[in-house]
Amino acid sequence: MEEDLTTDLLVLQSHLDGMLDRVHFNSTTLRRFQMFERGLLDLNSLAEMVEYVLHAQDFFDLDYIGFCLVDAKDELKKFLQEDGFALKENPQLIFLDDNEDLQGAFGDTNSPYLGRFKSPKCASFFAANEQPVSVAVIPLVRRGQCLGALSMGSLTAERFSDTMATDFIEHMTSVVSVCLENHLNYEMMKRTSLIDTLTGVNNRRFLEQRLGEEIDRVQRSSELLSCFFLDIDFFKKVNDNYGHQAGDQVLVAVASIIREQLRNNDVLARYGGEEFVALLANIDEAIAVDIAERIRKKIKALVVETQNKTISVTISIGSATYRPSKRSHLSSAEIGADLIHQADEALYQAKNSGRDKVVSAGAIPGHLALANLFK
Ligand code: GH3
Ligand code: MG
Ligand code: MG
Repeated sequence: MEEDLTTDLLVLQSHLDGMLDRVHFNSTTLRRFQMFERGLLDLNSLAEMVEYVLHAQDFFDLDYIGFCLVDAKDELKKFLQEDGFALKENPQLIFLDDNEDLQGAFGDTNSPYLGRFKSPKCASFFAANEQPVSVAVIPLVRRGQCLGALSMGSLTAERFSDTMATDFIEHMTSVVSVCLENHLNYEMMKRTSLIDTLTGVNNRRFLEQRLGEEIDRVQRSSELLSCFFLDIDFFKKVNDNYGHQAGDQVLVAVASIIREQLRNNDVLARYGGEEFVALLANIDEAIAVDIAERIRKKIKALVVETQNKTISVTISIGSATYRPSKRSHLSSAEIGADLIHQADEALYQAKNSGRDKVVSAGAIPGHLALANLFK
């Protein structure tokens, strides 16, 4: 009787030990997944996210990892390349032309596959020549659409099996899917939007669209159209002396001052790095030069504070005003390009004659624009 009790106790004790071990294992695993997920939420771009996800190989002690993205139009490849991501050095990042491979593996239900590595079903989710023994291939699904897959591979047969609980993995992949969708949307928006993400003013693409429309409009109404080409002086030195981040802060402050000096319906665009172009409707060149002078002085007075240091900059401005003419046979695009060219030439003179200056190209009569274009 007593012996029976002792045996029961021992069995119970061993059950309890087993349960405690499992609790301990689960809480360690949970912590690891939580840490990984927290890191994921802190990333700023698709390139950073791809790097981070590929890094999960070390994080979860995997022999292989694959990160597959559906990229039918080769857009993501282009985005990543533009952001300096080395595609060739990261064959674990795999681009799929369409959903077919994914559907072949997951079926219509988009359920994860856990178990033995089966070729060819699993091969497309890992870099060429990688042959794990057991795998977990998890689809990344958002709003019913499969964006890609995360594949983990192990050389141990028991690491991934179809009887395994997948709660942690599924939770993590749903976080990966949300982050991926956000980054994809952001990258698309950044590239198709008409706003410069740093300064909040319009970008060059917007200017190119609006310039033709503005020329058409003034051709009809016979109003004048002035154009400023603005370029911060010695901006490279700001970056060199104070760092790129401080340089960014200066760009934001300068853009905001220029914007404040313009009217609401004037156009301001960041043309390139530290260059801006403004279009001002219905003022003559003398008034345009006054406004440009006001901008120049405000920027000279600007003090940007960063990390206990103060930064001051100056700006050079070229100004030109287009006077529409019925005699012009040029297209709006040609007239627009010429107007910017004139303002840019004036800016060049401002730079060459000491910077921190406004130089006017004067009023350009429409019928002379062709001559200017080929000057
Ligand atoms: P200049 O008076 O002749 O215009 O001289 P500059 O130094 O302003 O002109 P340069 O064209 O030599 O240098 C422009 C610098 O602007 C170089 C580049 O690193 C910096 N730049 C371009 N875009 C950005 C940006 O988005 N942020 C920061 N911080 N710097 C930028
Ligand atoms: Mg420049
Ligand atoms: Mg400059």
